[in-house]
Amino acid sequence: MSKIDNRTPQGPIRTRNVQERRHDPYKLRGKLKEPTVCPQCGASYRNGRWTWDEITSDEADSQLCQACQRINDRYPAGELAIQGGFVASHKQEILNLARNIEEAEKNEHPLNRIMDIEDIDDGLRVTTTDIHLPRRIGEALNSAWNGVLDMHYDEEGYFIRLVWRRDD
Ligand SMILES: [Zn+2]
Repeated sequence: MSKIDNRTPQGPIRTRNVQERRHDPYKLRGKLKEPTVCPQCGASYRNGRWTWDEITSDEADSQLCQACQRINDRYPAGELAIQGGFVASHKQEILNLARNIEEAEKNEHPLNRIMDIEDIDDGLRVTTTDIHLPRRIGEALNSAWNGVLDMHYDEEGYFIRLVWRRDD
């Protein structure tokens, strides 16, 4: 005889807390004072979020934002490899697009930034301070020039890696 399943649709359903596994090692423990200003980039923290608002108060706390911490540690949260024969012949356009996307993203979200752009075998490697920007750039590349976009998200490690590729 099979066990009776007496769970009702209204009953508690146990799901694993996915959020809990997304462990960002740079997430702040505890609360920041408000306002706080990052002495390195000038971003300011108020009303629970980082912005580019200028804080004139002398009362502001001074603390490095997570993006600057990652930059100083050279510890990216995301990476986008841009590869294939197309890249060499369109390098400047690709760089311009990546920078434009970063600019727009960083305006809205001060902690989302490009960390480095370096030449690699067969293309470029863009590293970022956050896990969203590589995807935005990858998707922009894809909608501008097609190609193939692959994404790998490592939930445990809080790290995203994308590869955009176009060969001709
Ligand atoms: Zn900063």
